[in-house]
Amino acid sequence: MGILSTPPASDLNPRSAASEFFGVVGTCACTTLVPSVIYALYFVCNEHSGGCPPPLTVLPIYAHNALTDPSWWRSLWDTQAFLVYLAWLAYNILAWWILPGDWVEGTQIRNGTKKRYKINAFSTLLLTLGIVTGTIVRGGPESFTWIYEHWIGLVTASVIYSFLQAIVLYVVSFREGSLLALGGNSESHIYNFWIGRELNPSICSFDLKSFFELRPGLIGWVLVDISMACEQAVRNGGTITDSMALVVLFQTAYVFDALYNEPAIFTTMDIVTDGFGFMLTVGDLAWVPFTYSLQARFLAFNPVNLGPIWTPLIFTLQAIGYWIFRASNSEKDGFRMGRNPKNLTFMTTERGSKLLISGWWGWLQHPNYLGDLIMTFSWCAATGLKSPIPYFQITYFLILLLHRQARDEEDCRKKYGRDWTIYTNLVPYRIFPYVY
Ligand code: NDP
Repeated sequence: MGILSTPPASDLNPRSAASEFFGVVGTCACTTLVPSVIYALYFVCNEHSGGCPPPLTVLPIYAHNALTDPSWWRSLWDTQAFLVYLAWLAYNILAWWILPGDWVEGTQIRNGTKKRYKINAFSTLLLTLGIVTGTIVRGGPESFTWIYEHWIGLVTASVIYSFLQAIVLYVVSFREGSLLALGGNSESHIYNFWIGRELNPSICSFDLKSFFELRPGLIGWVLVDISMACEQAVRNGGTITDSMALVVLFQTAYVFDALYNEPAIFTTMDIVTDGFGFMLTVGDLAWVPFTYSLQARFLAFNPVNLGPIWTPLIFTLQAIGYWIFRASNSEKDGFRMGRNPKNLTFMTTERGSKLLISGWWGWLQHPNYLGDLIMTFSWCAATGLKSPIPYFQITYFLILLLHRQARDEEDCRKKYGRDWTIYTNLVPYRIFPYVY
């Protein structure tokens, strides 16, 4: 990264401090750790170990002397998987291009402009599910187990692609006139590479960040889940267990919700604040499809029957989480778009924008995070108690949202100054009522 010369900061792109994720050391660690964890989850949770943590001595690093054995490294590569992965990305771009969709404006960017986005992620999902359903109806569950069989090759494809794309985006961000993320213009290339340097890279009207945030990874996650369910059905005489049905249903519903409410993403931190760097690229393209599907993969070779008591209980938990998540996100998005049908109380800040102080946002600073956490827990709970590994997701997600809350709080403190203190006095709890 040292080959790039950093141009002096301008008024529009002020120099930032490398202060998040524990600075340069933390972002360097994240850049290596995130891909490593995706692989590690495969090696500690697979059918040979029955989905339970295996003894350390059978892990590749010990058993195959992985770090020094080139043939082990080559076993991570799968040319067919790489080509299919590229075809999947191309299909998503083609769908964005061809399928009809309204164009909507995002929030105002600090150069005074507003970006326009094409809204057709939901129709892309429907088209894809139509094709997949047709395939399974014609060919049976065995016709859609390919993702399960090529897991590690697909992980490698997504990680390599994420690195390449992030490197290209980083280099391109040095061109004249690019608008940088306020947090991604530090002195450190390593830090900027992770956090994201350019705010909204695009090719003509094709906005890269929102496209990758919603489509190949999220829709890919649903396909991965369906493939895991097919694998279980093949092993299970053509049927799937209640736990697999719940996991696939819940996670598909989560993706349906995100894509159906596509415009809501334009007020999120990822789109408004963060640059498009390795953090979002690897998160969207590798982490989401291959770690969020951990429960379904675990269940593929480890069927769990929840029975008539746990099934409705877990379903109810998911429903409560979804209600909090959707109602609070819709309340804020609507309010930010100028709607306030329930006449919620708000405070007007010195900066001019308003903060809700009643309704969901008068209850907690991040009610949407609470709902999201409850849902994630219900996905993990659906795998039963045989192994702790499927609970990795709730553990990681809790850390992610606590950290995200801290980042957002710092941002809001900068944005709103004294008004943020007034708001937090009125709404003291951040995510968990009466606890935090
Ligand atoms: P939020 O949707 O919580 O947005 C935070 C912003 O909302 C603040 O910066 C502020 O921006 C505005 N805001 C804060 N308080 C108020 C208020 N009282 N009234 C009005 N506006 C307020 O954060 P995220 O973008 O982090 O999350 C969006 C969703 O995405 C969440 O549901 C989260 O759970 C989910 N998510 C899911 C992930 C996953 O991997 N599954 C990963 C990350 C997020 P401003 O005032 O400038 O409008």
